[in-house]
Amino acid sequence: MSSTASPTPSGTVYIVGSGPGDLELLTLRAARLIGEADAIVYDHLIADGVLALARPDAEKIYAGKESSKHSLPQEELNQLLVRLARAGRMVVRLKGGDPFVFGRGGEEIETLVDSGIPFEVVPGVTAAAGCAAYAGIPLTHREHAHAVTFATGHLKDGTINLDWPSLARPRLTVVFYMGVGGLAEICRQMIAHGLPADHPAAVVQNGTTRRQRVLTADLATLPEKVAAAGIRSPALIIVGTVVRLQQKLSWFPPRAPGEPG
Ligand code: SAH
Repeated sequence: MSSTASPTPSGTVYIVGSGPGDLELLTLRAARLIGEADAIVYDHLIADGVLALARPDAEKIYAGKESSKHSLPQEELNQLLVRLARAGRMVVRLKGGDPFVFGRGGEEIETLVDSGIPFEVVPGVTAAAGCAAYAGIPLTHREHAHAVTFATGHLKDGTINLDWPSLARPRLTVVFYMGVGGLAEICRQMIAHGLPADHPAAVVQNGTTRRQRVLTADLATLPEKVAAAGIRSPALIIVGTVVRLQQKLSWFPPRAPGEPG
């Protein structure tokens, strides 16, 4: 055994969801950890204003997002978390929405487990829950949908090779994440697998923020409407008859008293 001082004990990595955009949807636990962290490794899609909760001397490292040229490759990112923790730092790995819903939280944790780094996961409000609430589209409803499915509109290999028969079903709400680029294909497949062309569908862009935009249409007309409106990522696609409720249940952004509906 060497007689030198024992090595610095490893810091903990907190994999934290920051919710879909509205800062007030951050959990109390997330806010506390962000305020205490020595280092924060954050993504492109984190709630506006969330980094202002960090200590002024905390190191803030931008990890970017996959489609950006300036993002860190996943393996480098995994190793960065290990390095920071081994230096004894308290690390917050900050992600949009919930870390375990299309957030690669699982992949990052595997490296931590393999490296013996202690970690915790802090859930966040996932985009489907946030956008549905702020758009006035309940994800389930006793008269419309008995189940809800979250699907990705963008697979690792660039295709949208989903199990269409299981998605194109009545009384089901399907929420597609990362689906704007593939919207026309998604709508085409849902119709090809049995849903009527006039089955309701919506797109919510920048949900829960002041920039939120909601478009409702049906499977046949949504792609054209979305293209005409110039809707881009981040946006969610919601398919199901629950979309019909939006007109009545919409409440955000709140109207000033006396403002016409
Ligand atoms: N872990 C995140 C999802 C990451 S995948 C979560 O749980 O929400 C990124 C996709 O999430 C985007 O392409 C978009 O489809 C969706 N998304 C995230 N924030 C959004 C927002 N504010 N409004 C609409 N869609 C959003």
